[in-house]
Amino acid sequence: MPSPIVVQVVVDKPLSQGFDYLWDEKTLGVEPKVGQLVKVPFARSSAVGMVIKVSTHSDYEIDKLKSVAQVAPLPPFDPASLRLMNFASQYYIHGLGETIIPTIPQMWKKPFDWEKIPKKISAAKEKKKEQEKDEATEGYIAEAQLNQAQESALEKLRQLKSENSFSATLLQGQTGSGKTAVFLNWLRNILESESAQVLILVPEINLTPQLERRVRAYFPDKKMVVLHSGVSESKRGLAWYQAFTGDAKIILGTRLAALTPLPNLRAIVVDEEHDSSYKQQDGIRYSARDLAVWRAHDLKIPILLSSATPSLETWMAAKAGRYQYLRLDQRAQGAGLPRVHLINTRDPQAQFSPGDPDKPESKLSFSKPLVKAIAENLQSKKQSLVLINRRGYSPVLSCNACAWLSKCNQCSSYMVMHKAGALGRKSVLSCHHCGLVKPIPSHCPDCGNVDLKALGQGTQKLEDEVEIAWPGARVLRVDTDSSRKSKGAEELFQEIHEGKVDIVVGTQMIAKGHDYQNIGLVAVLDADSRLFSQDFRAAERLFAQLVQVAGRAGRASKDGELAGDVYIETQFSEAPVFQYLLRHDVDGFLAHIASERDEAKLPPYSYQSLIHSEAKSLDKAIGFLSGLKGRLKALGLIGPGLRVYDPVPKSMMRVAGVERAQLVIESEDRRQLQDVLEAIDRELRANSQGRISKQDRIRWLIERDPISI
Ligand SMILES: [Zn+2]
Ligand SMILES: [Zn+2]
Repeated sequence: MPSPIVVQVVVDKPLSQGFDYLWDEKTLGVEPKVGQLVKVPFARSSAVGMVIKVSTHSDYEIDKLKSVAQVAPLPPFDPASLRLMNFASQYYIHGLGETIIPTIPQMWKKPFDWEKIPKKISAAKEKKKEQEKDEATEGYIAEAQLNQAQESALEKLRQLKSENSFSATLLQGQTGSGKTAVFLNWLRNILESESAQVLILVPEINLTPQLERRVRAYFPDKKMVVLHSGVSESKRGLAWYQAFTGDAKIILGTRLAALTPLPNLRAIVVDEEHDSSYKQQDGIRYSARDLAVWRAHDLKIPILLSSATPSLETWMAAKAGRYQYLRLDQRAQGAGLPRVHLINTRDPQAQFSPGDPDKPESKLSFSKPLVKAIAENLQSKKQSLVLINRRGYSPVLSCNACAWLSKCNQCSSYMVMHKAGALGRKSVLSCHHCGLVKPIPSHCPDCGNVDLKALGQGTQKLEDEVEIAWPGARVLRVDTDSSRKSKGAEELFQEIHEGKVDIVVGTQMIAKGHDYQNIGLVAVLDADSRLFSQDFRAAERLFAQLVQVAGRAGRASKDGELAGDVYIETQFSEAPVFQYLLRHDVDGFLAHIASERDEAKLPPYSYQSLIHSEAKSLDKAIGFLSGLKGRLKALGLIGPGLRVYDPVPKSMMRVAGVERAQLVIESEDRRQLQDVLEAIDRELRANSQGRISKQDRIRWLIERDPISI
């Protein structure tokens, strides 16, 4: 009797190991291969999993093993992609199955539909051919003319080997300096090789439509696919397949594209590499940028990281010579840098007095200099962007008589007041953390007072105020609420581009990656609210956002005029983040925070990890982590160089009725931290079912390199 074939299969479950199954070649019709997607019986049902080992041996009784039920109509994952998955699983302390399976689009995880897939693929191929011809690339031309700085950066990139040699390059240049044109020209060289694939990562969906058209204009003859969460499941399933088989040569996508198997990958670009949306915040909490660097290193190919405000990690690597460092220090189309103005709101001169004849009719809460500047900007027929990072009408509703506040009863946050929208909905209170929505109370629930006040302002209130202050101006609000309604974000952006709007009120989302032609003024109203935070990265993030926002002012002015103006209202104009911004000194700012971090031995001068716990009560969540810390001590795992802090409640302690706590573990030695985390994982798993402790039903998770503490 021939010895049976045994395969080990991992499934999408929080398990540290795979399971053995028998492979019956006769029924399945194919040989078993590592990397093959299959359907297997699992528990009392079935699951889709991946073969990670083929052998003739099992530690279990062969007779008791179940058999693989079905094989997906998909070639096996290539060895390099499996190496990437294995690395991600180990580094981020996450099961291999729950690392791999979620990266595969739904279409490939429905075994009852597997039979129909080959037909779908050929049908799509036919349709695609026709569509591609009509796809509009209008208005986007490949820049033929590069300036001198761009040319010299491009020349250095062209000298990099694209085969059998890893290199990482930081391309740093202010917004409008033409970084995109440089990397697209470079990729053009790489794509001269017939089979080559390139991966371009961008931070948010928001950025893709514009960049997509631009990339298509550069590579009209190359097959390109776009992968992000906004693409429909069936479309994404096909696009992923084309990338997977090497058919698509250009893969443009958000962080979820970073783990796509690409058999002929020759170069990677990570645009806006500092952006926090590269960090996955649920499931396996990976950094798409860090994995991309690992992948380039593993494949021995070049990777380019591009940013106006690099992350401290990347900037230091470039400074130290570990990354090649390229700079673009002039704005491409001759536009100058915006003039930054700090408005000190503590200065009485900056405020309107109640009887001021110049005070606008409304209760406009802007400072005097800002009102004047917007009025002048309107007069010179330029657009203004007014930013506040809070959507809704007002962040909290309050009662003056008894100090009642609209707290969410499920979270440690307030419910935001939203006024009736364009769709005729009623005004509501909404919690931005758990999604709870309630009608606005007609009177105070505590004391019965009917005079409830909306405290503070969000985008909706700002929109109202601006409309009253400048009745002749055309005002548009852009935030996730407005873009979810009748118009998509793209349509809203289009209105700005076409000059149909005078004043745009919105959140940070306006500022990302859009080249507006006629913005004369940008105002930031709530910078201070993001200045103070328990998170040591708050200033770095605020600085990057302000630079990005400022970059929207006066880009490529039509009439050859120089830059626009940026106004920042703050009570703390002496804070370093504002002072460096005033001088456009990105490197100065990064050097400043580098020395702060060095002193405190914070990342990148050390490596960090978080253990999260969630429970019905805060005591239990904290107690669980204290217990863990105690056991680590008892097991002798807390050696010199390792810092294990005391467990603390999270800054958003309560979300949707769940209390949350965290434990920070830090080391200057990456290996030491890795070993301890693996030990913690083993320790916790021994007393858990999946990631829920057996004794107290506490949910736990290990996170590597957290970006918010
Ligand atoms: Zn009251
Ligand atoms: Zn809530």
